[in-house]
Amino acid sequence: EIVSFDSKIPSFKTYLVGDWVSSKEFEDVISPIDLTVFARVPRIPDQMIDQALTKIYEKGRWEVRDMPGEKRLKTFHDMASLLDKFREDLIEALIVGNGKTRAAANGEVNASIERLIRADLDVRKLYGEYVPGDWSSESLETEAIVRREPVGVVLAITPFNYPLFDVVNKFVYSTVAGNAILIKPASRTPLPALLFARIAEIAGFPRHGLGVLTVPGKEMDKIISDKRIGVISFTGSTETGEKVIRLGGVKQYVMELGGGDSAIVLDDSDPTYTAQKIATSMTSYSGQRCDSIKFVFSEPNVYDPLKGTLIEELKKVKIGDPREEVNMGPVIEKGTVDELEFAIKDATEKGARILFGGKRIKDNYVEPTLLEIEKERVKELYLYKKEVFLSVAVMVKVENVDEAISLSNSRRYGLDASVFGNDINKIRKAIRMLEVGAIYINDFPRHGIGYFPFGGRKDSGLGREGIGYTIEHVTTYKTVVYNYK
Ligand code: NAD
Repeated sequence: EIVSFDSKIPSFKTYLVGDWVSSKEFEDVISPIDLTVFARVPRIPDQMIDQALTKIYEKGRWEVRDMPGEKRLKTFHDMASLLDKFREDLIEALIVGNGKTRAAANGEVNASIERLIRADLDVRKLYGEYVPGDWSSESLETEAIVRREPVGVVLAITPFNYPLFDVVNKFVYSTVAGNAILIKPASRTPLPALLFARIAEIAGFPRHGLGVLTVPGKEMDKIISDKRIGVISFTGSTETGEKVIRLGGVKQYVMELGGGDSAIVLDDSDPTYTAQKIATSMTSYSGQRCDSIKFVFSEPNVYDPLKGTLIEELKKVKIGDPREEVNMGPVIEKGTVDELEFAIKDATEKGARILFGGKRIKDNYVEPTLLEIEKERVKELYLYKKEVFLSVAVMVKVENVDEAISLSNSRRYGLDASVFGNDINKIRKAIRMLEVGAIYINDFPRHGIGYFPFGGRKDSGLGREGIGYTIEHVTTYKTVVYNYK
């Protein structure tokens, strides 16, 4: 809902547990295409957050839980149809607000629609258990039913890169399990969450079961530590995620944190096929994906042909205004390109060579970057220690698969890995030994709608997102013991 047009810049209201509300203060929403302000959203003050929390805790969570599951699913299906109906508005919001290409924006809308429909598969994980008591003399003639119950209120904190899908995904698994949800969208890209709230309202989702907190991240401390929040589902950087867990204390968590994946390339792989896959992973949404390939650990014989083809592939990439026919649009803000420039300088000082790109075209538009470095020095790189969230990858020639596995495992992140090649014994070893949440054989990592579960190990996170798999993180058990003696 729009409250005012000020010099053609619309100011939106936000949906807060039953009402569309505004505030005295507004936050600018900036388009990465030309770095201009194109909308404003209210900046919700502390006291309104607290009121919303009270309402959702006292009313909303029961409204969601009391709505029969079948009806809840029906509202999801209606939301899916509405997403389709408002497709053009959503695509516009993703192009202007995120700098996505039309194809990427359309893909995100499709993924969101499919996620809502696939909620019927999550339902199959919503069962409890029956435990007979007769295996222990202490509990003879008793039995228990272990109920799986919703926790209550989920606080979802989402990143900028999938501002519609991430909101829909967290909404689906939280509410299909019977929880109410407060969504705090990324401050840089709040509009898709507001459009989705409107769609949920039209579809008849329980009025007090949803709220969208348009609040800067640094003003979230109080609600994160509040005991009425039972689960925090966070997707974002490792640095922010660690802060959230420290503040949140004893709660249930789903944490999808920083990544940047490794590709392990075996000598018997096809270098052309592999280079195409790696280039696609590097450049998709300008590398602003947690599952984007950031390190290529290659066995020695395939290294040079792979390098040559990968450079050729990157040369083909067209960068520019995402409303035109390009492969890569801008990145979300200038600061990320500054960080890349710092990382490239750091890398070259440590002996890395620039194989391709690395140049800023203007402001927040930058070429994809490919570097190479000797295996002995790779661990010194800033890029090795910290994920830089755009299109940049480092090639490293290794002696064999064992070295590749060991270098990949020594990074602090453990989201996903790719293995390219055919040697079944080497592939098996990589599957067994890599400390990651998912391994893609002969493909680049892609989480998609979560049809296959995904999530990180080590500093890449806790828990799994994916159809059916997140149910265990947003529910809890309650054991009811019946005594028949
Ligand atoms: P970010 O950490 O800057 O922000 C994530 C969210 O946290 C935003 O909503 C932000 O407003 C909020 N936030 C910021 N400071 C906060 C604070 N102190 N307390 C509470 N909330 C706070 O991340 P980003 O730049 O939006 O997204 C990019 C990051 O997300 C990358 O590291 C990427 O790897 C990660 N990511 C991971 C996955 C995954 O599945 N593992 C998926 C997508 C993105």
